[in-house]
Amino acid sequence: MSTPATGSGHRLEIKDLHVSVTADDEEKEILRGVTLRIQSGETHAIMGPNGSGKSTLAYSIAGHPKYTVTSGSVTLDGQDVLAMTVDQRARAGLFLAMQYPVEVPGVSVANFLRTAKTAVDGEAPKLRTWVKDVNAALGQLDLDPTFAQRSVNEGFSGGEKKRHEIAQLELLDPLVAVLDETDSGLDIDALKVVADGVNRFRQQQGKGVLLITHYTRILRYIEPDYVHVFVAGRIAEQGGAELADQLEAEGYDKYVRAAV
Ligand code: ADP
Ligand code: MG
Repeated sequence: MSTPATGSGHRLEIKDLHVSVTADDEEKEILRGVTLRIQSGETHAIMGPNGSGKSTLAYSIAGHPKYTVTSGSVTLDGQDVLAMTVDQRARAGLFLAMQYPVEVPGVSVANFLRTAKTAVDGEAPKLRTWVKDVNAALGQLDLDPTFAQRSVNEGFSGGEKKRHEIAQLELLDPLVAVLDETDSGLDIDALKVVADGVNRFRQQQGKGVLLITHYTRILRYIEPDYVHVFVAGRIAEQGGAELADQLEAEGYDKYVRAAV
């Protein structure tokens, strides 16, 4: 277990969050009261069956316009995240890696990373150290320096997308990282490289991680401090890392049946 956050620690707090989406002119409630607190030094895993609302939680924290928060709150160190623009959320220290990253044709990885870094820091990074930092981040993820010249996500393999995501994490240096299905589409070598990146991040002082995943596989490489079972838009069970082992053995059935 992690040590409790000190006075200088940070805290992402989600309280009784209700979120709806509108599809075919019909409003559907997806999140039905989610309460969760992530403090510096803690890694939380959210696990649950497909369609339980895990990505909806990530998108809601990110400020995706498709998702309407109908009640509840999200705060980072007491500041109202829901009142912030997407850019302001990033500047406040939130990092959100998405399950379905968008292609940005014509924008190179190098320019994309530099623009993102400038937006987060409020000033452009110094060119000399920046190029070095980018190459180091790519290298740690087993990405060739030529990767920086490719268009963002265009023709990227699943593994390249996820490695690029973790390179962003390393370079943008947020306080709290929300990672949605970071393990999907990865072979075992890529999974280890990506997990190493997340572990490097979480070992730094003052960092929090919310790791969203359907499978327990990645949790063998990134051991969470807390595991939350997510079913039908709510947290149905909470525990430590041992809960992930239990889910691996038993699946989600028990929780799904209880939620009906
Ligand atoms: P998970 O990530 O756990 O698989 P999601 O959050 O993607 O679950 O989806 C939860 C539910 O919300 C599903 O029933 C899904 O169809 C619905 N949903 C999510 N996003 C949208 C959307 N943009 N439009 C319509 N329905 C959505
Ligand atoms: Mg999802």
